[in-house]
Parts: sequence; C-alpha cells; structure tokens
Amino acid sequence: MHITFSAAILNNPIEYLHGVNTIRGDMLRKELQVFTFNDLLNHFPLRHVDRTKMDKIGALTYQSDYAQVCGRITDIEVLGEKRSKRLVAHLQDESGEIELVWFQGINWIQKAIKEGGQYIAFGKVSFFMNRPQISHPEIEVYSAEKAAGKSFLEPVYPTTEKLKSKSLNGRAIGKLTYSLLQLITERDIPENLPEELIKKYRFISRYDAYRFIHFPPSEKHYEHAVRRIKFEELFFAQLRMNLIKSSRHRFSKGLVFDKVGDLFNSFYNQYLPFSLTNAQKRVLKEIRKDTGSGKQMNRLLQGDVGSGKTIVALMMMLLAADNGFQSVMMAPTEILAQQHYNSVKSLLKDLPVYVKLLTGSSSSKERREILNACETGSLHILIGTHAVIEDKVQFSNLGFAVVDEQHKFGVAQRAQLWKKNSIPPHVLVMTATPIPRTLALTAYGDLDYSVMDELPPGRQPIHTVHRLENKRPQVMDFVKEQITNQRQAYIIYPLIEESSKLDYENLMKGYEEVKSFFPEPKYWISMVHGKMSAEQKEVNMQRFAKGETNIMVSTTVIEVGVNVPNATVMVIESAEKFGLSQLHQLRGRVGRGTEKSFCILLTGPKISNDARERLKIMTATNDGFKIAEKDLELRGPGDIEGTRQSGILNFKLANIVNDKVMLEAAKEAVENLLETDPDINMAENLPVKNYLNQHKGKTAWSKIS
Ligand code: ADP
Ligand code: MG
Repeated sequence: MHITFSAAILNNPIEYLHGVNTIRGDMLRKELQVFTFNDLLNHFPLRHVDRTKMDKIGALTYQSDYAQVCGRITDIEVLGEKRSKRLVAHLQDESGEIELVWFQGINWIQKAIKEGGQYIAFGKVSFFMNRPQISHPEIEVYSAEKAAGKSFLEPVYPTTEKLKSKSLNGRAIGKLTYSLLQLITERDIPENLPEELIKKYRFISRYDAYRFIHFPPSEKHYEHAVRRIKFEELFFAQLRMNLIKSSRHRFSKGLVFDKVGDLFNSFYNQYLPFSLTNAQKRVLKEIRKDTGSGKQMNRLLQGDVGSGKTIVALMMMLLAADNGFQSVMMAPTEILAQQHYNSVKSLLKDLPVYVKLLTGSSSSKERREILNACETGSLHILIGTHAVIEDKVQFSNLGFAVVDEQHKFGVAQRAQLWKKNSIPPHVLVMTATPIPRTLALTAYGDLDYSVMDELPPGRQPIHTVHRLENKRPQVMDFVKEQITNQRQAYIIYPLIEESSKLDYENLMKGYEEVKSFFPEPKYWISMVHGKMSAEQKEVNMQRFAKGETNIMVSTTVIEVGVNVPNATVMVIESAEKFGLSQLHQLRGRVGRGTEKSFCILLTGPKISNDARERLKIMTATNDGFKIAEKDLELRGPGDIEGTRQSGILNFKLANIVNDKVMLEAAKEAVENLLETDPDINMAENLPVKNYLNQHKGKTAWSKIS
C-alpha cells in the first residue's frame, strides 16, 4: 500500500509532539493509552468551557459553572494563618463584585496582580455567604483583544489523578491537542464517506469534524462534529459486520444435510414427549434451510430461559446423524454438560444413537474410549465442556456443533470448532441472554439470527415480589409451605467478584442461617459454590435434582441452565447486588414445571435508585426481551453480557440506545452501498475503501461472533 506522508504524521509517537517529554509520554501511554498523534486526536473532550465571552459578575448564580469575568481589582488582602492562610482579591465590574481566592502560590500571585489593575479571571464559580467567588482562577492582564473572548470553546479532557500530578489536567491536555491540530491538514484526515452520503445527511467534512470536536467555534459546530463522528462509528461497524457476513456466505462451503432419515423421523413421531411450539418449528425450519443450502451455517439462537432450545439442538443433531455426520454440544459448566447428557440420553434411550459425555473429570480410560469413538466415527453425539474442543479431540466427520449459553464462551474457543473438519461444521450458538434486536443485529450482525419468542404451553408466569430483609422469617415460612407441598426451593447468595473469600463467608453465614430455619432431619439442604470441586458440586446438584434435598443454597453458579422442574420458589438474598439479566436468568430456574412458582427478592431498606428500578422491573414483568431493553437502558451496551468481548460496541460517541435513529440510517446506508457495489470498487466509494484498508486490523476481532 502506498503510504502517504499524511498517514505518517498521525502515526508519530506522542513524544514527537511539542510539550510532551519522555515522562509525559510515558504517562499518556499508561494512563490514557495514547501512544500516537492519532490516539490523541481520538481522545475526545468530556465537555467544553465557554471563554468566548465575558460574564457579568452581577448575573452569576448558584447555577453558574465556569465563568469568565473582567474588571478592576479593588483590594488585595492576605487572611488567616498557616493552613487557612489565603490571598483574597476583589474584582469589580459595572454589575458587581467577585472574590478571587488563592490558598497556594500566594507570594507569586501577590507580585503578579496589583490593586487598581484591570484583569480577566476565569474559573469555577462557587458561592460563599451569598457572595460569588472563584478559587485559584486563571488570571491575565486585561487587553481589549483578550476581552473579546476566544474564538472557540475550550475543551476539557478526561484525565486521571496521576496525570494531574504531572500537570496534565483536563485542560492541559487541551493545549497538546491544540498544538497537534496546528500540525494537521485536511490531507491528514481524509474523507471516508461517499460524497452522496455526506450531501444527503449534510455532514461536515471529516477534517472539520475532528477540529470541531476538540475546538468548536460554537455549540452548533460541536453538535455537527458529534453527529458526523457518531455516524461514522456506526457506519463502519455495520459495514465491517456485513462484509464479514457476506464473505462468509460467498466463500464458506458448507456440509449438506439433504436427507431426513430414520433417526429424525422416529424421534419426532414416537419419542418427542410433547408437541413443538410454533417458535421451535419455525427455528428448526430456519436451521434446516441453512444446513441444506451448501453454505456453512453460523446461527445465533436466542430464546428466553425455558423456551426449549435444547430440543431444537437435539433434533438437528439427529438430522446430522441421519446424514452421516457427528455432532458436538458444548456447555459452559460441568453441571450443565451433565444435565444435557442426562436428558439427551433419556430422550434417545430407545434409539440407536451413541452419545458420550466428555468433561474435565472424565477418567483417562473413558477419555481414551471417547477419543477413539470420535476418531473412528462410531460416536454420534459428543456432549461436554470446553474439553470437547481440545486439539486431542479429533472427529471423523463433524457436521454440527452446538454452543449452549454462548456468553460464557470466548470467541476464540468458538473459532476452534471451525477447525474440527476440513469443511467446517455448521455452528449453532444458543443463548438465553435476550439481546434487544437492534443490538443483536449490530453486535452479532455477522451471525444469522433466530428467536424463540414463545414458551411451551402450560407454563405459569413466575410471581415475583420484593421484600425487605426484616421479613426474612415470613419469607422462610412461605418456603416451608412450599416444601410441605413437596416442592423445592433455591436460596441464592450474590457472588462479589472482587472477593471470593467474602463470597464464601457470606454464603457460609447464609447457610447457617438457612439451617436454623430448616433443621435436619426434617429438611435437607444442598449447597453448591465456586470453591467446591466439580465432583462435589455434581453430587450436591444431583441430590437436589433427584429431590433428595429440599433446598439448594448457592452462589450464582447455578445461574446457567440447570433444570429442576419441581423447584417452585427462589429466594435471592441481597438482590440489589445483581444485574437485571442476571436476576432474570436466575429466576428462570423456577417456573419450569406446571406448578405456580415464586421469586422473592430480598434487600435491605437502603438501596440505590438504579437497584430499585431493577427490582421494580423484575416484579413487573417476566418478559426477557423487555428486561433486556431495560437493562440496556440502565447499563449501556458495554455491559450487556456477551457484547463486551465482541468489542464491536465500544463506540466512543455513539450509543446504541440513544442513537437508534442514526443506527438505522447507518444500516440503510451500508445496505445501499453494498447492494450497488458489493466489492466497494466504484470510484465514488473510494473514500470508504481507502479507510477500510487503512484500518484493517479492526476486522480481525472475530470470525464467528
Ligand atoms: P432452554 O431454552 O432454557 O435451554 P430447555 O431446552 O432446557 O430450555 O427446556 C426447558 C424445559 O421445557 C425442558 O424441561 C424441556 O423438556 C421442556 N420443553 C421444551 N420444549 C417443550 C415443548 N414444546 N412443550 C413442552 N415442554 C417443552
Ligand atoms: Mg438451556
């Protein structure tokens, strides 16, 4: 590629900038990840202060933030002793008087300012005894030119305590940005959108956008800059996604499942214990269309907890077997893998299908047997944890791979599945974390997308309430009632990630308390927590699943997937500590049978407004998609599980929730562009092509999600 001088200047290491020495350079790298000129250019201000005009002192109010005033200093005095020693100067304009106060550098200021002199002062206004004052103002000798004000709004940048200690506060960084922009010309920030699009949306040029995001002549200019840069972020995110997707569709040859054979048919006709929901049927149809197309499938299946995703996966695995292919199903935890294995085994018990479970705790003898069966092709279905994607596991003919509860898996782990066959297997990624559709299409735009928006019939909505901790005895009485009716209960304690020790202590205290409410031998309690070995967890889980214990006390390790239909009540301790989608996932462990189920959220009396809002939503709805929308609103997309590692939603300015309209516009623009010019070769799209070529690295983030 032809490297122009322009590209080179933005690639300069940050030390090359006037005002940045080795020490500051180090700090900028460490604290702000600013390595190059380009990084600094992309370090956007938090806000701006307006020094374009003078404020009238008499017009300052408690609401005033920063102010710039000019006037005459009427007197200067040093007050107080030692630590409270301060210099106070009174500055007067025709509308009023303000106090300027210094606690430090008193001697220096004393020499610099004179009674009777005219000055311009700038700083944050506060009020003391009803009088306006500015502490440590910036102060300059008055001149008519300065009093006319700056020609732009002054940026204030995000910074850190460490940077401040090296006198790189939010405004000092502005000085650096200012000198950087003096070096940069229009050629250094070339246009990256087609002219037509710029005209259509009346965008300012990219060069102007970068100038005005830092130093806008006015509020309006700043808004234009933000709008332009947001659009760019959304446009290129969407474009990259579509390109990945279309290259996959064009180039990834896929295995063909063209036969509906005996296994699928007899399972469907004889062994399926219920009739499929319409959503399940629709999704099966979508998957079958893909797997028959000759192209490799990468599909995200999203369905609320309990919507019956497993059976869909199972039926596809049978179809794969009918067509001579092996399948693998990967679960995030051993418990869950075991559960899948148990239920698949029992569903298939009368069919000639060879199914095995492989986890970290499989014995070496068993492991050898399984690896052998995979290699010879005698094994039809392998279920397990991430153990199934290790290099040692070689298949004779892997055709279908299912990843359950996808957010617990890294992208890289999923990518390994592709390598398990010379023609990559079809991949079905299943998640119960509902992601709002707009977000899903952007975050996972390179995956095809199916939704199961229907629960199997007969499910009763879970009744959810919020109770204060002082009502714990009554809550436990209610749990007792349920147990008396032969039901089972979960009691969940929060997992505070920073301190597994604290979690453990909390859980143990809780366990003792639960025991005092539910003494043996009248009641039996299981406990599962992160510090247990896999076998211990398994034993405890199984005892609960078999109904040998009445209560499961646990940290959030049960969050994902366990299925105990007889459990009808869940108590969540310190519910304010959980995120919305986490609460929803947890709650999904009850209400899996036909009995009425309950979820009780316990908290102390003092909780934050956000937490209160979360609890309110939980008690108001069971709809995972509504909850996800709300979660997105409360937390922003960066925190939604599964999107963080994708990196695709880490926009600087754009926000998927607030900028929905612009997202739609960007999407439409991308679609139009690719429709007329799929390879981006037309002259008018050259800016787009050049930009993509220069920023290639960013597309490498993912192959399957
Ligand atoms: P999830 O989508 O959360 O993984 P599962 O696949 O574990 O849900 O299904 C939850 C429960 O619903 C299981 O006990 C399953 O057997 C049952 N189930 C699935 N599909 C249906 C259906 N169409 N009718 C009745 N029950 C179903
Ligand atoms: Mg599941």
